[in-house]
Amino acid sequence: MLINVLLFFTGLLGMEGIAYLTHKYVMHGFLWNLHEDHHRPRNGIFEKNDLFAVFFSFPSMILIYLGVHVHPPLLWLGIGIAGYGVCYFVFHDVIVHRRIRLPYKPKSGYMKRIVRAHWMHHSTREKDGAISFGFLYSPPLEKLKQAR
Ligand SMILES: [Zn+2]
Ligand SMILES: [Zn+2]
Repeated sequence: MLINVLLFFTGLLGMEGIAYLTHKYVMHGFLWNLHEDHHRPRNGIFEKNDLFAVFFSFPSMILIYLGVHVHPPLLWLGIGIAGYGVCYFVFHDVIVHRRIRLPYKPKSGYMKRIVRAHWMHHSTREKDGAISFGFLYSPPLEKLKQAR
Protein backbone atom coordinates (compact mmCIF):
# COMPACT_ATOMS: atom_id res chain seq x y z
CA MET A 1 0.00 0.00 0.00
CA LEU A 2 2.71 2.47 1.03
CA ILE A 3 4.77 1.56 -2.01
CA ASN A 4 1.77 2.31 -4.24
CA VAL A 5 1.37 5.74 -2.67
CA LEU A 6 5.08 6.39 -3.21
CA LEU A 7 4.85 5.26 -6.84
CA PHE A 8 1.83 7.49 -7.39
CA PHE A 9 3.67 10.57 -6.09
CA THR A 10 6.83 9.60 -7.96
CA GLY A 11 4.80 9.65 -11.17
CA LEU A 12 3.03 12.88 -10.24
CA LEU A 13 6.06 14.85 -9.05
CA GLY A 14 8.54 13.26 -11.42
CA MET A 15 6.44 14.47 -14.33
CA GLU A 16 6.92 18.10 -13.30
CA GLY A 17 10.66 17.56 -13.67
CA ILE A 18 10.22 15.80 -17.00
CA ALA A 19 7.78 18.46 -18.22
CA TYR A 20 10.23 21.21 -17.19
CA LEU A 21 13.13 19.59 -19.04
CA THR A 22 11.04 18.79 -22.11
CA HIS A 23 9.68 22.34 -22.24
CA LYS A 24 13.13 23.90 -21.91
CA TYR A 25 15.22 21.62 -24.09
CA VAL A 26 12.79 19.98 -26.54
CA MET A 27 9.85 22.35 -27.03
CA HIS A 28 12.18 25.37 -27.01
CA GLY A 29 14.71 23.19 -28.84
CA PHE A 30 14.38 20.94 -31.85
CA LEU A 31 10.58 20.67 -31.65
CA TRP A 32 10.02 24.45 -31.44
CA ASN A 33 7.98 24.27 -34.66
CA LEU A 34 5.31 22.31 -32.71
CA HIS A 35 5.42 24.62 -29.68
CA GLU A 36 5.71 27.96 -31.50
CA ASP A 37 1.97 28.42 -31.98
CA HIS A 38 1.48 28.24 -28.21
CA HIS A 39 3.51 31.47 -27.98
CA ARG A 40 1.19 33.17 -30.50
CA PRO A 41 -2.46 34.20 -30.22
CA ARG A 42 -4.49 31.07 -30.94
CA ASN A 43 -6.91 30.86 -33.83
CA GLY A 44 -9.20 27.86 -33.66
CA ILE A 45 -9.72 25.35 -30.90
CA PHE A 46 -6.50 23.39 -31.16
CA GLU A 47 -2.86 24.25 -31.54
CA LYS A 48 0.03 22.10 -32.66
CA ASN A 49 1.34 22.36 -29.11
CA ASP A 50 -1.54 20.07 -28.00
CA LEU A 51 0.34 17.18 -29.61
CA PHE A 52 2.68 17.21 -26.61
CA ALA A 53 -0.23 16.37 -24.30
CA VAL A 54 -1.15 13.48 -26.60
CA PHE A 55 2.45 12.36 -26.65
CA PHE A 56 2.73 12.48 -22.85
CA SER A 57 -0.40 10.37 -22.42
CA PHE A 58 1.35 7.35 -24.00
CA PRO A 59 3.79 6.53 -21.19
CA SER A 60 0.96 6.66 -18.66
CA MET A 61 -1.32 4.45 -20.81
CA ILE A 62 1.50 1.96 -21.38
CA LEU A 63 2.33 1.85 -17.66
CA ILE A 64 -1.33 1.41 -16.71
CA TYR A 65 -1.66 -1.40 -19.26
CA LEU A 66 1.51 -3.12 -17.99
CA GLY A 67 0.34 -2.58 -14.41
CA VAL A 68 -2.95 -4.33 -15.06
CA HIS A 69 -1.54 -7.18 -17.14
CA VAL A 70 2.11 -7.71 -16.18
CA HIS A 71 3.58 -5.95 -13.14
CA PRO A 72 1.01 -4.41 -10.73
CA PRO A 73 3.17 -1.62 -9.18
CA LEU A 74 3.48 0.03 -12.60
CA LEU A 75 -0.24 0.77 -12.41
CA TRP A 76 0.32 3.40 -9.70
CA LEU A 77 3.19 5.00 -11.53
CA GLY A 78 0.94 5.26 -14.58
CA ILE A 79 -1.93 6.69 -12.53
CA GLY A 80 0.49 9.24 -11.02
CA ILE A 81 1.54 10.38 -14.50
CA ALA A 82 -2.10 10.57 -15.59
CA GLY A 83 -2.81 12.58 -12.41
CA TYR A 84 -0.12 15.03 -13.42
CA GLY A 85 -1.76 15.30 -16.85
CA VAL A 86 -5.06 16.26 -15.21
CA CYS A 87 -3.41 18.82 -12.88
CA TYR A 88 -1.41 20.25 -15.79
CA PHE A 89 -4.51 20.59 -17.96
CA VAL A 90 -6.57 22.27 -15.24
CA PHE A 91 -3.74 24.65 -14.37
CA HIS A 92 -2.31 25.41 -17.80
CA ASP A 93 -5.26 25.21 -20.19
CA VAL A 94 -8.17 26.13 -17.92
CA ILE A 95 -6.78 28.46 -15.24
CA VAL A 96 -4.00 30.21 -17.17
CA HIS A 97 -5.13 30.11 -20.81
CA ARG A 98 -8.87 29.94 -20.10
CA ARG A 99 -9.74 27.52 -22.87
CA ILE A 100 -12.66 26.57 -20.66
CA ARG A 101 -14.06 29.59 -18.87
CA LEU A 102 -14.67 29.08 -15.18
CA PRO A 103 -15.40 31.76 -12.59
CA TYR A 104 -12.18 31.03 -10.76
CA LYS A 105 -9.57 33.46 -9.54
CA PRO A 106 -6.30 32.32 -7.98
CA LYS A 107 -6.27 33.27 -4.30
CA SER A 108 -3.52 31.36 -2.56
CA GLY A 109 0.05 32.60 -2.77
CA TYR A 110 1.04 29.36 -4.47
CA MET A 111 -1.59 29.61 -7.22
CA LYS A 112 -0.87 33.30 -7.85
CA ARG A 113 2.81 32.54 -8.10
CA ILE A 114 2.57 29.68 -10.63
CA VAL A 115 0.04 31.60 -12.77
CA ARG A 116 2.32 34.67 -12.87
CA ALA A 117 5.33 32.46 -13.51
CA HIS A 118 3.62 30.98 -16.58
CA TRP A 119 2.67 34.41 -17.91
CA MET A 120 6.32 35.39 -17.48
CA HIS A 121 7.15 32.43 -19.69
CA HIS A 122 4.74 33.80 -22.28
CA SER A 123 6.35 37.25 -22.23
CA THR A 124 8.42 36.12 -25.21
CA ARG A 125 7.35 34.78 -28.59
CA GLU A 126 10.79 33.48 -29.35
CA LYS A 127 12.42 30.09 -29.11
CA ASP A 128 15.47 31.47 -27.32
CA GLY A 129 15.67 33.60 -24.22
CA ALA A 130 12.48 32.39 -22.54
CA ILE A 131 12.39 32.00 -18.76
CA SER A 132 10.22 30.04 -16.34
CA PHE A 133 9.71 26.62 -17.93
CA GLY A 134 8.01 24.89 -15.00
CA PHE A 135 4.25 24.47 -14.64
CA LEU A 136 3.03 23.34 -11.23
CA TYR A 137 6.12 24.51 -9.41
CA SER A 138 7.85 27.84 -9.62
CA PRO A 139 10.72 29.27 -7.63
CA PRO A 140 10.09 32.76 -6.18
CA LEU A 141 9.33 35.18 -9.03
CA GLU A 142 12.32 37.37 -8.13
CA LYS A 143 14.58 34.43 -8.87
CA LEU A 144 12.88 33.87 -12.22
CA LYS A 145 13.41 37.49 -13.20
CA GLN A 146 17.10 37.27 -12.40
CA ALA A 147 17.39 34.30 -14.78
CA ARG A 148 16.39 36.52 -17.69
ZN1 LIG B 1 7.14 27.71 -24.10
ZN1 LIG C 1 1.10 28.39 -21.84
